[in-house]
Amino acid sequence: MNDFSLGIDFGTSGARAIAINRTGEILAITRTDYQLGDYATWQIALYELIMALPIKIKRNIGRILIDGTSATVLLCDRQGKAISPAMIYSDRCPLDVLEVLQQIVPNDSIACNASSSFAKLITLIEQVDLARPSSHLLYLLHQADWLGYCLHGKLGFSDYHNALKLGYDPQILDYPAWLKMWLRASGHAQSLVLPQVCAPSNPVGIIQAAIAQKLALPLDCEIVAGTTDSNAAFIATIGTAAPALGTAVTSLGSTMVLKVVSDRPINNANYGIYSHRWHYGSHNFPQECLWLVGGASNVGGAVLRQFFEQQQLLDLSTILSDRLNPYYPSPLDYYPLPQTGDRFPINDPALKPRLEPRPADPVEFLHGLLESMARIEAQGYDLLQNMGAAPVTEVYTAGGGAKNVAWTKIRDRHLPNLQSLSTDPLKTEAAYGSALLALGLPLGIISASSAAT
Ligand code: ADP
Repeated sequence: MNDFSLGIDFGTSGARAIAINRTGEILAITRTDYQLGDYATWQIALYELIMALPIKIKRNIGRILIDGTSATVLLCDRQGKAISPAMIYSDRCPLDVLEVLQQIVPNDSIACNASSSFAKLITLIEQVDLARPSSHLLYLLHQADWLGYCLHGKLGFSDYHNALKLGYDPQILDYPAWLKMWLRASGHAQSLVLPQVCAPSNPVGIIQAAIAQKLALPLDCEIVAGTTDSNAAFIATIGTAAPALGTAVTSLGSTMVLKVVSDRPINNANYGIYSHRWHYGSHNFPQECLWLVGGASNVGGAVLRQFFEQQQLLDLSTILSDRLNPYYPSPLDYYPLPQTGDRFPINDPALKPRLEPRPADPVEFLHGLLESMARIEAQGYDLLQNMGAAPVTEVYTAGGGAKNVAWTKIRDRHLPNLQSLSTDPLKTEAAYGSALLALGLPLGIISASSAAT
């Protein structure tokens, strides 16, 4: 009985795989580097991660789920061969494409954005030589879709987390009318295949026999529909329990991303607020679902990197943490952006970083930065709730900044429901979230195989 599940994370800063058993206990972890912008390195990294797992564990892997960076896409031909470079999550479409996009996509859709997967689809399709035979049938795939294809060999499948920024509507579980209309009007209806979209963790296919042999995986290992790296990190952070309404996770990575579990979707492109479908349907009510309502601010760790080396950041944070007893607020009121513009919680592409006055003491400066980011985080949660998200009952933390004790002390003053960190840092890794999701545990879904046992 292949009881173990394998979560594979392709994030901004490397790839990881974590194997777990049925109860969520970690059995093995492997890591490797890859170049996000070079898809040829994705497949190499995927195979490296799996090959490096202990054979005893690999033999018992029944399900594999892959997460990828959101809105990283490529076009490939019917053989699955990429025929465009990958456009990565932070790439933006050219201005002329943006103008076209704004005429096609309703402005409350997250696809109406220069970095959306749909913007990248229009950009890439213009670059392809449509006269070449290989271009007669084109498949648009997200990073996680293409990596899944490398294992199961079935082209044209995605999940409704990755497909959100392509324009897929997770409320109606279909592509919206504007997207179908564009497909017809653009003349690509016959030649462009948009992915068939599954619920994350639903089976897509069995691993190809040759790949199973090469990687020493069971021949009946199932590859299930994936998710995005930030949703996988959310799942890892909340763990095995199905989340309650109002459970929130702040990811303190290069940017600051807030997500809260709500009973309704909220979409407001003006504030960069969007909602992922979070299935929790029982067998009796399969359509019931919760929503992961979130927003992303450019405020975050990237700004800290601009001012401090990693070691300096750690040293200053320790001094600051000692000084923060008893807790006291910094009077400095910054808006620490790495460059002009933010969308959430303040929507202003012309918003300038506010980083003055700068005290001579670097500890005071760091205090001002962290205090200001904590203030903006609290403002973000207020905005989500004002727009209709569920009242926040508990805030968990993920990302590189989660380990910063001084920041945690400061955030504790601004966020009354801040929860302490998981004692096992591996259990906040996105790969762990993907492994849990492969089992359907955090979604409240009983996976087909576990239902049978
Ligand atoms: P991402 O995947 O978005 O690049 P990570 O979750 O890996 O982000 O976190 C990296 C970010 O965390 C960096 O921008 C870095 O500045 C920040 N970071 C790392 N360690 C600390 C720390 N001790 N205190 C505050 N920020 C930190």
